[in-house]
Amino acid sequence: MDYFPGFLNLEGRRCVIVGGGDVALRKARLLHGAGAVLSVIAPSTSPSFAAYIERHSLSWTPREFRTTDLDGAWLVVTATGKPSVDEAVYAASRERQLFCNSVDDRANSSYITPAIVDRSPLVVAISSGGAAPVLARSVREKIELLLPTQFGRLAELAARWRERAKEKIDSVARRRRFWESVFGGRVSGLAIGGRFNEAERAVADLLVDFSDRGPESGKVWLVGAGPGDPDLLTVRAVQILQSADVILHDRLVSEEILALARRDADFVPVGKSPGCTVNSQEAINDKLVDLALRGKHVCRLKGGDPFVFARGGEELEALRDAGLAAEVVPGITAAAGCAAAAGIPLTHRDASQSVVFATAHGRDSVDRLDWPSLARDRQTLVFYMAVARFGELMTALIAHGRAADTPVAVVERGTTQDQRVVRGTLGQLQMLKEAQRIESPAILIVGEVAAMGASRRTGPAAVDAGPVPQTSRIYAKQNL
Ligand code: SAH
Repeated sequence: MDYFPGFLNLEGRRCVIVGGGDVALRKARLLHGAGAVLSVIAPSTSPSFAAYIERHSLSWTPREFRTTDLDGAWLVVTATGKPSVDEAVYAASRERQLFCNSVDDRANSSYITPAIVDRSPLVVAISSGGAAPVLARSVREKIELLLPTQFGRLAELAARWRERAKEKIDSVARRRRFWESVFGGRVSGLAIGGRFNEAERAVADLLVDFSDRGPESGKVWLVGAGPGDPDLLTVRAVQILQSADVILHDRLVSEEILALARRDADFVPVGKSPGCTVNSQEAINDKLVDLALRGKHVCRLKGGDPFVFARGGEELEALRDAGLAAEVVPGITAAAGCAAAAGIPLTHRDASQSVVFATAHGRDSVDRLDWPSLARDRQTLVFYMAVARFGELMTALIAHGRAADTPVAVVERGTTQDQRVVRGTLGQLQMLKEAQRIESPAILIVGEVAAMGASRRTGPAAVDAGPVPQTSRIYAKQNL
């Protein structure tokens, strides 16, 4: 973040605007609207600025800028249209440690102004740090559409109830949930529909409801985080991330995804890796039960889908045995995410009638697999956690009748910036692993479909390396 975001209280504070044109007028309107006491410095003004100055009785000094104009100021804006003057105003401000914005001139500014969606008292400010103002404006347009104009009235309504909610609901966590119910449910629906009296009554009912309830019970959500790309999270997953008190996450869940969570949540990494104190499945189950018994709302965030090779079933049983509430939020499993990102249709009607998700984690699970059935033609196999066992998988499948020239694709770190797709044939699998130094996390896809969707092929074995190719991402998005 290059610029620190904040909202300034300018009420009654002197702000200097240098310049008398319509650009300066636009800034004057915003500053005056926020309660600033404006001093305009400009030898002349446009007719509309002159009218604005008169209507609002602003102070106008009709001459060129002097450094003493900055005396007693809190903030400076310069928009003279003359670079040399703007530079001088900026230099003088800097000397006095005053924040100065030269409109559309980042080099001569110590602060920049964001694009704004104004639903006062709710205000959304968007900035690209000057890197792409058009992008910031296009984001603003999207947010404009998202926030109905009545949101301002909804925020005012909330302000009226703030003190009463504080009096009636002691616990901070429960008060937060009260407000989540206000903004996420019937009340905001009524307000958006313009039915403010009913909305007011609904808040009163909710408050009674929340202040009467006994000690609050906790709840756990087993949430799928998808294969890596944050855009592949479900809407529900994001909602839970933004409301949970504690987030117990797998080691593989990326920083980008964790950054979407509530800022003040507790983050607990779990799994067998350095820094994880909760590291056996039993310890994870116990931790979930313990947190929920203490009334916490817990998001158990797992890579991919929580029920696909993820021991979500055991966690759910532990919670149910303890009589605790739990909900499962599915995620995009690695097979689906990686196949889409690599352009591999898992069940293309010309090549495959079924798809099997299997795991080959450890010697035991390899021995227990039903090889005659896995080796059948016209089916796609997707192996999870199998990198260490590629040699054994290759030998067993060929020994049970699958052709050695059956196409395979290995998708490493699928859907992330580091995605790599290695393609070849079943008979080459062990060689590919060594030559390409394939590492976990990766999934192996076996079957005719594995040859489909290659972005470039140079022979029997080929690698699509580097960031996710744009075409694959578009492909992925269209198919989801
Ligand atoms: N619940 C997860 C699977 C967890 S098991 C899901 O539904 O996807 C962990 C295995 O998933 C890894 O060993 C690897 O085989 C696979 N995997 C997870 N994320 C992956 C990714 N981004 N790219 C490739 N494979 C991945």
